[in-house]
Amino acid sequence: MTRHEFISAQAAARRQTVSFWPVAVNLVALGCFIWGAAHGYGAGEAGDLAGVRTGGMVFGVGLAILLASLVVVPIIHRERGPRCPHCRLKLIRILGPLAIASGHCGRCSMPLFEEEKR
Ligand SMILES: [Zn+2]
Repeated sequence: MTRHEFISAQAAARRQTVSFWPVAVNLVALGCFIWGAAHGYGAGEAGDLAGVRTGGMVFGVGLAILLASLVVVPIIHRERGPRCPHCRLKLIRILGPLAIASGHCGRCSMPLFEEEKR
């Protein structure tokens, strides 16, 4: 792999990693969470037991989705990126720019790039 191919692979991996749906799902869950709490509290003040139950259920669903996303999103959203051909270390975060600048893997120090033809 040349340095240029490495940079392209890194950019492609970054594009794949960014996605919209976890943010959208969590915004809806947060809405349920807040609405459920406010509705339940308001119904409780008014002495409306059915309203408290509805608010509690919506609050619970919102809370469950928020907690589940803490577990599910990191599993689905594993960071992608090019790997060192020698030790297979994923060269992401600080290791990516270090590899581009130095031309060597941050763990095994082996050279990463073929000589680029001019
Ligand atoms: Zn390595």
